[in-house]
Amino acid sequence: MIDFRSDTVTMPTEAMRKAMATAEVGDDVYGDDPTVNRLEAMAAEMYGFDGALFTPSGTQANLLALMSHCERGDEYICGQQAHNYKFEGGGAAVLGSIQPQPLNNQADGSILLSEIKAAIKPDDIHFAKTRLLSLENTIGGKVLPQEYLAQAQTLAFDHKLKIHLDGARVANAAVAQNIAISEITQYFDSVSICLSKGLCAPVGSILLGDERLIGKARRWRKMLGGGMRQAGILAAAASLAITDQVERLAVDHDNARYLAEQLSTLAEFRVDIPLVQTNMVFAYVNDGVDIGSLAMKLKQSGILISPGSTVRLVTHADISRADINTFIGEIKRHLK
Ligand SMILES: *Cc1c(COP(=O)(O)O)cnc(C)c1O
Repeated sequence: MIDFRSDTVTMPTEAMRKAMATAEVGDDVYGDDPTVNRLEAMAAEMYGFDGALFTPSGTQANLLALMSHCERGDEYICGQQAHNYKFEGGGAAVLGSIQPQPLNNQADGSILLSEIKAAIKPDDIHFAKTRLLSLENTIGGKVLPQEYLAQAQTLAFDHKLKIHLDGARVANAAVAQNIAISEITQYFDSVSICLSKGLCAPVGSILLGDERLIGKARRWRKMLGGGMRQAGILAAAASLAITDQVERLAVDHDNARYLAEQLSTLAEFRVDIPLVQTNMVFAYVNDGVDIGSLAMKLKQSGILISPGSTVRLVTHADISRADINTFIGEIKRHLK
């Protein structure tokens, strides 16, 4: 199958499978797993934090961050399109009694600093306590400018807010700008990074923060059932995600650009090419195209997409330039 639905579908590499088979392990809840400990130490060091925590998912890493920064009755400011507002089942509210304060995302993915400032609540018993600003980079495949991150950090600092990054795809943001991941993470008090997307690990995310935050997060992780035992089997693959898979993302970005250009030659789709900055293409489906039926036909040809009025197509390690040509050819054949 040529699977454009997400970069989460990437399979672990051969090197990852080998590393998993031979990983040295222990009981990580006791802190005894050397492979997990090495991964956490390496991630903390590379991205410029005191501590790191290996988590089963990005959703859990974000939830741990929110619950570790905020108390019951606090709020976090985030985008309307933020994963940790829109796509995580309301976990912060359900499990943390933390209120989101979502604000509009601009076309480039940012939230206007003026709107953030206006949303920070004064100290007044009518209001939840605004505790945290949460940004996402990349967001919808778009890269937030470095200057914007610096300004957001200053704003947060001036208003005594902590600042979190949902950096599920922060590696894509770094590669797209040809900078180190640490140049992005430097602006944040905490960062979550998915290793199981474009970076090809089978399972796992990393949460970064200072000792106190990671200590709290470790406690919440256990409570939420995320304390894993011989997790070094997973951490072995996750380590290779960090060391071996980041540079390769440039290929995914080139392929996404190529895919966008090819799609925009077809009458049935529109693509805003300047917004294709990393590994995601959003194709707007023109009126009169039965996208559901097209998706079904493509599936019979071994191609998977998520149909909708906008189709999100994601490039990744298991999609080649030839696969994209096959996809475009099949669309032309089916729409003829
Ligand atoms: C995928 C994703 C997550 C959550 O990761 P899971 O491992 O799927 O729980 C969080 N934030 C963003 C921006 C994501 O794309």
